Amino acid sequence: MSEPIRVLVTGAAGQIAYSLLYSIGNGSVFGKDQLCVFIAMSTDVIATDKEDVAFKDLDVAILVGSMPRREGMERKDLLKANVKIFKSQGAALDKYAKKSVKVIVVGNPANTNCLTASKSAPSIPKENFSCLTRLDHNRAKAQIALKLGVTANDVKNVIIWGNHSSTQYPDVNHAKVKLQGKEVGVYEALKDDSWLKGEFVTTVQQRGAAVIKARKLSSAMSAAKAICDHVRDIWFGTPEGEFVSMGVISDGNSYGVPDDLLYSFPVVIKNKTWKFVEGLPINDFSREKMDLTAKELTEEKESAFEFLSSA
Ligand code: NAD
Repeated sequence: MSEPIRVLVTGAAGQIAYSLLYSIGNGSVFGKDQLCVFIAMSTDVIATDKEDVAFKDLDVAILVGSMPRREGMERKDLLKANVKIFKSQGAALDKYAKKSVKVIVVGNPANTNCLTASKSAPSIPKENFSCLTRLDHNRAKAQIALKLGVTANDVKNVIIWGNHSSTQYPDVNHAKVKLQGKEVGVYEALKDDSWLKGEFVTTVQQRGAAVIKARKLSSAMSAAKAICDHVRDIWFGTPEGEFVSMGVISDGNSYGVPDDLLYSFPVVIKNKTWKFVEGLPINDFSREKMDLTAKELTEEKESAFEFLSSA
């Protein structure tokens, strides 16, 4: 057994955590020989609700809890409430967690919450913060697999660009699918450009809303599975020849995304460190969609920063 690691899950009384804690506990995220000290933070069922206890010496923080959108609530009000939460949790990470802590933000608006937490934790490298777009990534793989009659595991290198919102851009220009033992490009395999540029994109963008409509609740098991995939890849790295999507801080030099936006990119991970996948050609169709979601994120960021300075 290796040294125990300390893992915090916030929003622990919620529906995602209900599926997530079990998977972390049974070893399918950090490995079977890795002991975890769990800290579950919630405002409902109290394992602890004290930041100084919850954030002490953390190795991993999975921030699921956030203020949900209530009927009639303006997007700005939601943002304001969450800036307050993630400012406080960022400050607690700064003060109590290990400087090597990996922070994964799930609570919505996930990208901007993640940026808020990172800005509020200046002593922790900004590359240690990421937000979940793996659920969208997994959904994109599933849609392609369904259409081709293969399994989602046969599809790789899809990309989610931008915000975890309905402006996200699911891109399969660089994706591959295994058909009869051979890897082929998804566009080549499907031969249905109008579906790929139309219904495929909107289905993935609106999947969250479709799940809420059907279940009267947002996705939980699939979100928990995606969190496990995301954290496992941070911990153990991405497989050779494969990349995954996650919301990370932009450096202004990659894919024309403005500097300092928490934007979902294709990344590869090695030694617990992510790197942008560089040099993928971007066509005009993709460019337009990538810019649109960047614009939304820039607006979100500006509002959040206004609240941040006054919170
Ligand atoms: P939920 O309402 O069932 O649970 C959230 C829990 O967080 C509640 O128990 C609540 O009491 C708690 N909470 C609220 N504020 C808190 C705070 N400041 N500190 C700690 N806990 C707090 O929600 P859920 O279905 O588990 O979803 C959680 C969040 O994840 C939501 O914001 C949801 O929109 C988001 N989500 C994100 C993705 C993604 O892909 N990024 C996917 C699905 C859901």
